[in-house]
Amino acid sequence: MIIIIVAVSKDGFIGKKGAIPWRLKSDMEHFKTVTSGHTVVMGRKTWESLPPGFRPLPDRRNIIVSRQTDLKIDGAEIVSSLEEAFKLAEEDEIKNNKNIFICGGGEIYKQALPYTEKILITRVDKALGDGDTLFPALPPEEWNLVSTKPGEKKEGDECGFVFETYSPNLRYVEFAAVRTGYQLKTMRIIRQKGHCPFCPENLSLYHKEPVTWEGKYWLVTDNQWPYPGKNVHKLVISKKHVEDIGELESGASEELVEIVKMTEKETGIRGGAIGFRFGDPILSGASVKHLHFQIISPKRGEEQVKFFIGIRG
Ligand SMILES: [Zn+2]
Repeated sequence: MIIIIVAVSKDGFIGKKGAIPWRLKSDMEHFKTVTSGHTVVMGRKTWESLPPGFRPLPDRRNIIVSRQTDLKIDGAEIVSSLEEAFKLAEEDEIKNNKNIFICGGGEIYKQALPYTEKILITRVDKALGDGDTLFPALPPEEWNLVSTKPGEKKEGDECGFVFETYSPNLRYVEFAAVRTGYQLKTMRIIRQKGHCPFCPENLSLYHKEPVTWEGKYWLVTDNQWPYPGKNVHKLVISKKHVEDIGELESGASEELVEIVKMTEKETGIRGGAIGFRFGDPILSGASVKHLHFQIISPKRGEEQVKFFIGIRG
């Protein structure tokens, strides 16, 4: 998961003259607890703003984004773009559940927003007035404030603070159920562009298999990311953008049955299953919200095909 972590002043600033303009020991501890064991990505200036004794951040994979490609820093990996940083951290993300924490500065936050699945903001109870780096605005139609937790002011904290968590809204794809690096990469492009990948006007951009049949309600194609062990894996996509089963027109279910019969006949499969995810993607495990179903038939006598419902964690 790509997560932005940031502390923001009352008036929206994250920095002043290349430094963090407040002293909050508790927030530094919070940052350490949350990011330890994961990957941290930051711009070169943010890296340089860390006290030399604190960098590289221990127990974390440190990736620095810099235009200076010949830059060499002990204990950190240097990349020339955020996309390159994601590519580098992707395997750890998928295989080892390591989150990618975006740690600034302002420009890196801005570039990372379209890819971000969660934002952790420490809202600092202090107005700067003359800060020089602002955190990008979070339009309420794109981001939901899902939790607010007051911080406990301790010794070493110059002011109060609140921990806020934001989740993206109105997105057509869900990363949590994605199974391969290539699929993840495609999904990130889709999310950045704000496209629904299964709507007819976008389908050919992201789906490389041809449409093999088209009815009144559904399109049939092969799944381009088939499950291991499959013999036949058809993807049947609603022609209209619907996300809820209740939005389907009445004729759609009859056509669905016809498609299954037709597939049996055409492919000669003798059995299998229909996978039809519906509703909340966290519960369904769908990676695309646009309603679709899958016809899956395994290879006789070989590996079982696993159809996961819901997502881990
Ligand atoms: Zn759609």
